[in-house]
This record gives sequence, C-alpha cells and structure tokens, in this order.
Amino acid sequence: MTKEYFSHKHLLGIQGLHPPEIQEILDLSDRYVEQNRGGDKKQSSLRGRTVINLFYESSTRTRTSFELAGKRLGADVINMQVSASSVNKGETLIDTAMTLNAMHADILCVRHPDSGAVKLLSQKVNCAVINGGDGSHEHPTQALLDALTIRRRKGRLGGLTVAICGDVLHSRVARSNIYLLNTMGARVRLVAPRTLLPAQAQRLGVEVFHDMREGLADCDVVMMLRVQNERMKGSFIPSIREYFRFFGLDYEKLACAKPDAMVMHPGPMNRGVEIDSDLADDVERSVIREQVEMGVAVRMACFDILARNLAGA
Ligand code: ASP
Repeated sequence: MTKEYFSHKHLLGIQGLHPPEIQEILDLSDRYVEQNRGGDKKQSSLRGRTVINLFYESSTRTRTSFELAGKRLGADVINMQVSASSVNKGETLIDTAMTLNAMHADILCVRHPDSGAVKLLSQKVNCAVINGGDGSHEHPTQALLDALTIRRRKGRLGGLTVAICGDVLHSRVARSNIYLLNTMGARVRLVAPRTLLPAQAQRLGVEVFHDMREGLADCDVVMMLRVQNERMKGSFIPSIREYFRFFGLDYEKLACAKPDAMVMHPGPMNRGVEIDSDLADDVERSVIREQVEMGVAVRMACFDILARNLAGA
C-alpha cells in the first residue's frame, strides 16, 4: 500500500513540495486517468462537498478542467463569474473571502492576475485553496499535469532533459515546472531571448540558452510557452515574424532534440508565433491534447487529497 504524504491544507505552489508529495499526487492521478477513460466516470468521494471556481482572469481549459474534476468526484461545483460580480462594485479580495466563508465552501480554486493574491486569500478563508494561476508566480496544477504527461510517456522524470522555451519572464507555468522538474531530478534548460528571461535566471537551478538549436540539443522534452502579450508593458520582441524565426518551434529546430523528444504547450497557443501549427497538431510529436486530458485527472487527485486533509483536520 502506498503511504500518503501530502498533508497540506492548500495547494498554492510547487515550491517547497517534496518528491513523495508530488509522487503521491501523480500516482493517484494515474488511477483517475484510467477511470476517466472507462465508461463509469462518476465517483462519490466529494459528495456533499462544495467546490467554487473563482477566476479573476479568463480561462477556458483550466476552469472547465476544475469543474469537470469536481463533478466527476460528486461535488457541487459553482463558477463565479468575476467580471459580473462584486469586483466591479469595488469589493476587495478579502470581502469576497468573507462572503465565500459564509457560504461554507470546501475547496476554492482561484486564478488572479496578481502574484501572491491567492496566498493572501488562503489566509482569510476556512476552506482549502488551490492556486489556478497567480500572476507570473505559480500554476501548480499545470506543472503537475505536465509532469504526469511526461512520466506516462517517458516512464520517469529523473534524469530527463527538459527545455522550457519562450516567454519565461511572464510565465507562471515555467516557474512551477522549474520547481517540480528540479525537485524530481530532471535537468531544466531555459531557452529564450534575453528580454524574456527573469533577471538571474540561473539562480533557479537551470541552464540558460539564447539559441534554440543549442538549447534543444539532445533534449527529451520541449516545452513551449505562450508569448503573453497581455502581461507585457512595452515591447519585448522586435516582431512576430522575427520571433518565430528565432524562437518558434518548427520541425527543423526540433530535429536538434532527441528523435523521440515530445513537444508540449500549456495552451492557449499562438500558432505561428511560438509554435508551428502543423507541428502542434502532429500527434507523433506533440502531446498537447494529452496534457488537457491529464489536467482533469490531476485536478481530481488534488481535490481528493485536499478533501481528505480537510476531513482529518
Ligand atoms: N494557461 C496557462 C496560464 O494560465 C498558460 C498561458 O496562459 O499561457 O498560465
């Protein structure tokens, strides 16, 4: 029998998690992948629980994925349309927390444009909180679903070389993946123009490259990032055409990686900007659709574990 390790109340980030905690989530997610592929997808481990999705930023994939995960486990799931909610009437994050407390939610999934906002909220609510992405800080369930996708394809995480390419500066996906992959013993490379890398990126325990062909050489996994125009104040890239030429992933650049290297992207994709459209759809190389499938399983596992911890609190 596997020992249960993850005993935190919230899932706010990957930073600080230990390998057995990550492994526990991934192992349980594997079980949910099989179940989701079967006929009977419905479980009852969250029956009687209320999950609230509170999204202050637009999202299709992540919000739907949390919703489906909650429903498959038998929870009541509520989506809060923030644009139409009290935020527009000037209600603060903390007031919203108080309202949610009064509603006795059990698990809150929050996405917010400001780094740290989800943690702040978690300190004010009684329920468990999952960070669905806060600013350019963390997006833990994305890193977990990426890890699950890689582990199922490659059989392991330790010892693999993973290149994370593109707009690292604005990417919470990159940050969570760096923490997770480093913790699990993978080698991480960042491949980006200087303008799209955080200052002192090397301090994150990664190798830094400014040339795609060098950065991709002999990699097992190529993880592309979206160019996040909405977070850019000013101009970070000369032109889209130039960006694609030097940093867009196409078959030619991918040929520098290992012959069986897998291509990933968290979505939504800017086709023809950071990734060639045909390559993105090539199921021989790209696992982008599989990542979406893994997302539901990972979120089910996170719900399950957090609900268990709530029950034991
Ligand atoms: N969907 C991911 C996020 O919310 C990646 C992206 O938007 O580029 O961070």
